[in-house]
Amino acid sequence: MNAPTNFSLEAIVDEPLRFDFEIFFSTKEFGREPLLDISPARIAGEVARVEGGHSLSARLSWSGKLECSRCLAPYDFSEDDEFSLLLYRRAPIAEGELSLDKDDLDAYFYDDPVVSVAPIVEERIQIALPMKPLCREDCRGLCPQCGADRNVSPCSCVVEFIDPRWRALQVLKKG
Ligand SMILES: [Zn+2]
Ligand SMILES: [Zn+2]
Repeated sequence: MNAPTNFSLEAIVDEPLRFDFEIFFSTKEFGREPLLDISPARIAGEVARVEGGHSLSARLSWSGKLECSRCLAPYDFSEDDEFSLLLYRRAPIAEGELSLDKDDLDAYFYDDPVVSVAPIVEERIQIALPMKPLCREDCRGLCPQCGADRNVSPCSCVVEFIDPRWRALQVLKKG
């Protein structure tokens, strides 16, 4: 399969370890229907020993195709993300003590000192994928009546919409 995308933290003592991986994912792994295509994710960076654990700082880049949630057109996107994490060995839970403190969002706890990069990358991609993908901020979507793509050409449907507050005013006027 892939080239090894693991590193043994125990082997990283004085010198930071530099790495540069490509990780292949299939769109299915993310369970997101609008995700039509995804490139290999490239992650390059280093792992260094810090007090009490290790730090990982890396640049993650990937691209793909998403389906716009308004007009249903596929569009290309790409991400280039620099991040850093602190890697700590998961402490055995001491009596009456729960040591979940500080910025846990940027901390990654492991049981096995051979850490695999793929799940870290997968999680970051999962977070970066938009819940409601839009081909562009002001996408006009499809006409709910005739289905025409309103980005391409405005259709002649008249969509009636009366603000309910207006309606209340009209009633008042008549009365
Ligand atoms: Zn769109
Ligand atoms: Zn229409």
